[in-house]
Amino acid sequence: MTTPDSLVQVANEVRVCVACPLHRTRKNAVPGEGPADAPIMLIGEGPGFHEDQQGRPFVGASGQFLTQLLASAGFKREEVFIANVVKCRPPENRDPLPEETQACGAYLERQIALINPKVIVTLGRHSMAKYFPGEKISAIHGKARKIGGKLIVPMFHPAAALHQPALRQTVEEDFRKLKDIIAQASHQPDTKPIPPKNADDAPEQLSLF
Ligand code: URA
Ligand code: SF4
Repeated sequence: MTTPDSLVQVANEVRVCVACPLHRTRKNAVPGEGPADAPIMLIGEGPGFHEDQQGRPFVGASGQFLTQLLASAGFKREEVFIANVVKCRPPENRDPLPEETQACGAYLERQIALINPKVIVTLGRHSMAKYFPGEKISAIHGKARKIGGKLIVPMFHPAAALHQPALRQTVEEDFRKLKDIIAQASHQPDTKPIPPKNADDAPEQLSLF
């Protein structure tokens, strides 16, 4: 009998993976972390310096910012699952190559299948491309779209937004709106949303679906 897949199993495989050249320059692979039944999953790009040092996702400056953004959406960091498109740090934080993303993709797929979150937030271009190929983040950021029964919300990458005031404001606004998007998603499909008493009470996110 084969044993069922698990997040621990995925993480164990990732830590010793040699499927692409990124394994040669890593100190630690970064499988991702969070509860197996997380309602929301965030997908970043790849580990940076601090993540590689510690083997954990989003622990540097962009991680602190992400924790604040999550708080504004009503979540503690420990309540969400945080993963990356590639699990090993690209040298000098360069963009992951298509063949690296491809080689690492099966781990991410298994994590998504195991967690089966209601909502996936993509952080930056590389995870966005998985769900919205050819689209521009400037046009679609913060807008939820239902894909394969999940709500996918593309966001600017916190590292990009951290030091650019205009972008920072945008990503902060998008995360604040995420709170309402998620509240609505949690009403579907198990329970019917309570109809608003009058038009003025109607939640504005309805326009997003
Ligand atoms: N940036 C990412 O995309 N992922 C991390 O884990 C850290 C920084
Ligand atoms: Fe394996 Fe992914 Fe690391 Fe490449 S980036 S070595 S595919 S875990």
